[in-house]
Amino acid sequence: MSPLRANDHVVVVGAGLAGWRFVEILRQLGYEGRVSLIGDEIHAPYDRPPLSKQILSGKWGLEKATLATPEKIERANATFLLGRRAVGLDLDTMSVRLDDDSVVAGTHIVIATGTTARPLSYDSSGALLTLRTSDDAARLEQIVGALEPQSVVAIIGGGFIGAEVATSLVARGLRPVVLEAQDRPLVTVVGDEASRWLFPLASAAGIEVRTRQRIRDVTTVNKFTVDFHAAPSLEARAVVAAVGSALDLQWLEGSGLTLDNGIVVDENLEAAPRVAALGDVARFVHTSGRDREQIRVEHWQVAADHAWHLAHCWMDEEAAPAVPYFWSDQYGKKIQMLGHPHPEDEVVMVSGSVDELKWLALYVRDHVVTGILALSNPRGLATAKVLLDTLTTIDDATSRAPWAS
Ligand code: FAD
Repeated sequence: MSPLRANDHVVVVGAGLAGWRFVEILRQLGYEGRVSLIGDEIHAPYDRPPLSKQILSGKWGLEKATLATPEKIERANATFLLGRRAVGLDLDTMSVRLDDDSVVAGTHIVIATGTTARPLSYDSSGALLTLRTSDDAARLEQIVGALEPQSVVAIIGGGFIGAEVATSLVARGLRPVVLEAQDRPLVTVVGDEASRWLFPLASAAGIEVRTRQRIRDVTTVNKFTVDFHAAPSLEARAVVAAVGSALDLQWLEGSGLTLDNGIVVDENLEAAPRVAALGDVARFVHTSGRDREQIRVEHWQVAADHAWHLAHCWMDEEAAPAVPYFWSDQYGKKIQMLGHPHPEDEVVMVSGSVDELKWLALYVRDHVVTGILALSNPRGLATAKVLLDTLTTIDDATSRAPWAS
């Protein structure tokens, strides 16, 4: 791979975390050529995690989530094409077609288009709230900000966003009711055992989580009514749909890129020569225990690490893939995970206990550690990270016990 030169033109589609960080890091590494940053939102790049936390709980205004401050924008020296959506990609001419029919051609293309909130198809779908963008956050604020204290807000989905929204709404004096379809929230992410350990957190925080919910429809006349297949209806003043994400890859169909639950990329995050994909949209190569697999991960640190990795690859600097990481602040606690274990991997609690509300657990597949999950134990997680740097058996991990140091 030849490094970027001053006469190159890097076109970045998606002005979110990964796209913006990539531009920033390229400049920090000394790239002097042209950069164009295309984003369909009208806002300068901003951070999403605060939307469900500090902003929804009322601690921050939206402006505090801005990533691209005016000084940083100046330093980035990029052409911003905001409020413009990419609708086509032509690899022969290395060009991106926009929704106003203009075309941006470059020497290198980066796709960092993220995901969208998965919509629900109920009677009242248009009136349901979601939380993916800054505009969603403003709409949510407008609606929940006008509710009486203790008003019921139904939250469909008990995953990360649902739990964080519930936590923030309680802090505002509202009464969220989380409606989860599975046996327990997060069971498909952290697995059966760990989801049992996490489950009591919601009730300890005074938040009602109803599991195995089968919603038939959500209707609205003045207030919302959630109807179930085999349970009494729930009336709510607002309904938030937090049921995961959707990918929009339609604009890339026929482009020649491999699209399969994301844009499939190689070890250097390239989907084709000089065309890369980053962040939530990228299906990348990950080594988990003894297995190599293509995964797609929708977490902040992974998007930021992708940006760092690609910028280093394209500037011919040393780059190694990072271990996936996420955190979530929910029900008054911090959950953190390193690695990308399968939910069916065995999970072993190696420090703390459920009753202490502080613990550290290792995931194990074929006797090898595949991931680390921590509740309110950031230090334990940081010290245990070394176990994922090389192939480590569970016996070796427990005899070394780095978290105990
Ligand atoms: P995005 O940040 O989504 O950026 C993609 C951008 O591309 C968007 O602006 C999008 O509108 C734009 N775009 C899409 N299609 C086009 C197109 N065709 N043309 C032009 N532009 C386009 N992760 C954690 O690890 N911990 C957390 O606590 C956490 N909290 C979160 C809370 C919320 C409310 C949300 C929504 C996400 C949270 N995340 C969290 C996830 C994290 O924010 C994402 O993983 C991260 O934003 C992914 O970055 P990205 O650049 O891939 O995508």
